[in-house]
Amino acid sequence: MEERLLAAVPPLLAWYRVCKRELPWRGETDFYRILVSEIMLQQTRVEAVKGYYTRFLEKFPTASTLAAASEEETLKAWEGLGYYSRARNLRRAAQVIAERGVPASYEEVRALPGVGDYTAGSLSSIALGLPCPAVDGNVLRVLSRLLADPDNTDDSATKKKFAAMLKRAYPPETADFCQALMELGALVCVPGGAPLCGGCPWETLCLAHLEGREENFPVRSEKRARKIVSLHVYVLRCGGKYALRRRGEGLLAGMWEFPNSEREQSFGQEAEQKRATHVFTHVEWRMTGHLVDVRARSPEYVWATTEEIRKNYAVPSAFKAFAEWLK
Ligand code: SF4
Repeated sequence: MEERLLAAVPPLLAWYRVCKRELPWRGETDFYRILVSEIMLQQTRVEAVKGYYTRFLEKFPTASTLAAASEEETLKAWEGLGYYSRARNLRRAAQVIAERGVPASYEEVRALPGVGDYTAGSLSSIALGLPCPAVDGNVLRVLSRLLADPDNTDDSATKKKFAAMLKRAYPPETADFCQALMELGALVCVPGGAPLCGGCPWETLCLAHLEGREENFPVRSEKRARKIVSLHVYVLRCGGKYALRRRGEGLLAGMWEFPNSEREQSFGQEAEQKRATHVFTHVEWRMTGHLVDVRARSPEYVWATTEEIRKNYAVPSAFKAFAEWLK
């Protein structure tokens, strides 16, 4: 297996130099700016990240500027990108960098808030030039196919096994190699039954392809079933202002939301109703939205105009369908 992996490195690097996508963070060498891209790319598609990345760095161009920002400002700049604990952790990581300087080792990178094994590997390879593998689902898939992995699973033990093999195969071009593996998984060795083997630099090397068994790798482990939660969401309107409240701990912690509860409540005269669904990783919200005109502004909530909400309050996209009532 190891010889096949070693033989796969040069054609992969040659392919990457010609075929890589032009992305806003490509060729970036500044640690903080690479950190922003890597954190944004966790669980989020490249296309969705592009615009956010540029806007976020216009607002917070250095670790010191983000370190000095409030959590509220950070969440506002992250609004709509989802998984908001990433934004809070990124701000805390910026504070560590502003105070102690850029990390110099894998261990120091791994110790930053919000940085797990995968992100520590990619940051070390891309920003620090260290041979530190980063194995996510994409990289696991391409290696599983290249090697027709006899264990054929996508669990964390397989990730560790591939990381150890990659460490021994790392070329001096650490940044290109790390990104080339990800790029191959994103563009050519795509998930499902139809990888684009005709355009793959490993067409003559890949064992799964040579055996005509590409779609058999990797066998996916059972995923945990999503919990369904039914919610009533109330957009309370009073004299041109709308009620908001802040979420506590847990999912979307610290974000602003329209009042909501699992049980239906009566607030006043209902002007409109609509349904919407929002899917998180482990939970699905099935929401019934109620636009309600109320007579008095309850002190239980913050009351804000549409413009104030747009400028100052980070409302997650889970509530987007109902935010349209504010226009
Ligand atoms: S030859 Fe096909 S299956 Fe093998 S790595 Fe390339 S795209 Fe994936």
